Amino acid sequence: MIIMEKNIAISNQYLPNIQVNGIQHFINGESVASVSGATFDNATPIDNRFLGKIASGDAQDIDKAAMAANTAFKTWRNGSAGDRRAILHKIADLIVKNKEEIAVLESYDTGQPIRFMSKAAVRGAENFRFYADKVIDAQNGTSLPDKDHLNFTIRQPIGAVGIITPWNTPFMLSTWKIAPALAAGCTVVHKPAELSPITANRLCELAHEAGLPKGVWNVVQGFGETAGKALTEHPLIKAIGFVGETITGQHIMRQGAATLKRVHFELGGKNPVIVFGDADLERALDAVVFMIFSLNGERCTSSSRLLLQRSIYDGFLAKVAERVRKIKVGHPLDPKTEIGPLISKEHLEKVLSYVQIGQAEGAKLLVGGKRADGFEQGNFFAPTLFADANSKMRLAQEEVFGPFLTVLPFETEAEAIELANDVRYGLAGYVWTNDVGRAHRLARDIDAGMIWVNSDNVRHLPTPFGGMKNSGIGRDGGDYSFDFYMETKNISIAYGTHKIPTFGNT
Ligand code: NAD
Repeated sequence: MIIMEKNIAISNQYLPNIQVNGIQHFINGESVASVSGATFDNATPIDNRFLGKIASGDAQDIDKAAMAANTAFKTWRNGSAGDRRAILHKIADLIVKNKEEIAVLESYDTGQPIRFMSKAAVRGAENFRFYADKVIDAQNGTSLPDKDHLNFTIRQPIGAVGIITPWNTPFMLSTWKIAPALAAGCTVVHKPAELSPITANRLCELAHEAGLPKGVWNVVQGFGETAGKALTEHPLIKAIGFVGETITGQHIMRQGAATLKRVHFELGGKNPVIVFGDADLERALDAVVFMIFSLNGERCTSSSRLLLQRSIYDGFLAKVAERVRKIKVGHPLDPKTEIGPLISKEHLEKVLSYVQIGQAEGAKLLVGGKRADGFEQGNFFAPTLFADANSKMRLAQEEVFGPFLTVLPFETEAEAIELANDVRYGLAGYVWTNDVGRAHRLARDIDAGMIWVNSDNVRHLPTPFGGMKNSGIGRDGGDYSFDFYMETKNISIAYGTHKIPTFGNT
């Protein structure tokens, strides 16, 4: 299969020889080089082969993009909702039309298996469609009448916003942040992750093909410390929607302080999956294994801590181990592959370091714990299972962000809740029990932004998505995204019936 696009040539879907030539910034409707002329090299995690040069932006490029977004805001915000809706639907259509190419590029750039990336491309289109249909209601407010005044609220877009995304599922995550911003009437400067830069420009190009006016959506490629930092500090950028590590969120909060940036953070997680003895153990087994080993374990909502009730500990653990041993590691473009390579050599080293940490701490390594056999050139890590951990261990506290499961035993419901909450994160929690009262108690008492009972992570777009504690600030999804991208304004109209105090009239 050969797909030819402007900047990208792909030959043979399963053994591709992708060349990425000159991915630049996309500012004010056109592809442009960095003002400084700087570039950086992009490699594929499959074999760490050089893929191409990417423009490396700095404060000058961010300034150009922020000015373009600020200028475009004046017309985009005042355009008709019907036109905005039509453009967002057209973007969704074009994503679907190009879904195979997007999936291949994303797999090649991130190492994520094609079986997930083809769905992620379609999910990206769904995000646009969902927010296209919400455009009409975005400005709606509430009516709050008083005796002498009619108060009512309207929502207005906040302005030009910065979107900063990470390298895990970058295409899907970008649509998730950008679609509601555009639906709200904001304009966007997007800074994609330097480790997965390819699909951001493709998405932005498709948006322009769909009729998006120039300047409404701009992409500045580059590193966090330069382009990302400049974006968070720019006075014309009114808000930063950020997805990434907790520590980066802390930097962004400091960087944005001088310009009082509104921030929305989706950060790290160390999410518990709690399995009680009374649960449907077959379904629980599927969900436990899927929720940590899918997407290479590079997933913020992964169930990286399995809390297992003592009464079923040995039997259930043996079944988990059996499954983990059989997970298929392979080339991400092979449809049978369940786990592909990790994003970078550095990330592979980080994940490997947790094997030593776990062994030194006294947890029991049951499966994996090394590079995957047969893939010497790429960043392949064997799916790994550690058991008999306790909550004091770093293994149970820190986000490994790989196909790496840590298992802890518990006896009672109270202990399970205590363990679940004994981390600095609070993104998601998964509870497996057939006791209805217990399910409700755990859902109430676990400190996390999202709880799934007897389920893997199944996303419903109108629901709020986000974390508590060190996992984030704010919620995405449904109408919740508009709370971030829009200002709520109260308008108070007097009926002319109330007494206005008189001053200086004696
Ligand atoms: P990261 O924080 O290293 O980088 C994310 C983005 O921030 C990149 O584009 C990077 O260039 C930029 N950046 C880095 N330093 C910056 C700075 N000083 N100022 C501005 N921007 C800067 O994260 P990552 O390693 O790319 O992604 C993995 C992390 O993302 C994990 O912790 C994961 O849990 C988290 N994540 C969270 C969610 C969620 O919804 N909660 C979703 C996906 C990923």
